[in-house]
Amino acid sequence: MKQMISRMAQAILATPIFVIYANTTTLGEKEYVCPLNIVAEIRKSDACASEGGGFDSSRKKGTVTARHRSLDLNAQEGEEAHAIHAGKVIVADPQWEDNMGGTVIIDHGNGDYSVYGHLKDISTKPGVELKAGSKIGAVGYTGNAQCLKRNGIIAHLHLMVIRAGKSGLGTQGGPIAELKKWGTMWQKELGADLTGPINPNLIMGDLKCWKGDTNKP
Ligand SMILES: [Zn+2]
Repeated sequence: MKQMISRMAQAILATPIFVIYANTTTLGEKEYVCPLNIVAEIRKSDACASEGGGFDSSRKKGTVTARHRSLDLNAQEGEEAHAIHAGKVIVADPQWEDNMGGTVIIDHGNGDYSVYGHLKDISTKPGVELKAGSKIGAVGYTGNAQCLKRNGIIAHLHLMVIRAGKSGLGTQGGPIAELKKWGTMWQKELGADLTGPINPNLIMGDLKCWKGDTNKP
């Protein structure tokens, strides 16, 4: 028995280090990573959005009341923002739309798209293939987040995950590009191709990228 244990110990010690680490993941191989390097607070109600930055928070757009369908993740201006999952950049625009401001959209190839709004210093461009965790820009006060800056309120990353069930919808005139007309809003009218935004908590919850209730306004 002693001999057997000793042989096992020898075998373990003789195992090359790369085998021991074969089942762990490095940053580039991780499937999903947090979009920020901090555990973010979900935006609460403030002078610019009475229902805060939860998934179900309502937003007024003209006469239409819509739902936010995104998460606002509080962070200091300049905090680095990262791709949550590998994919191809389909939008990287410092002023994509009045509400969203600096925006990056990634087609993840699995039918999901992630949308990052109010960015500044965008550091990627359309067509680039990103890994999970690749830097895309920094948290800013662009688009309607300028209201926050005027009121001395912390900045945030606007994060939306659209589960469309189909890759390649980011082309000119395609339904993802049409989001531009609606800004942060979600409207059924965009077409049957899109299933719609899902709470990022559904795919990222285990990672604890944020704290607080993501559903409650
Ligand atoms: Zn938002």
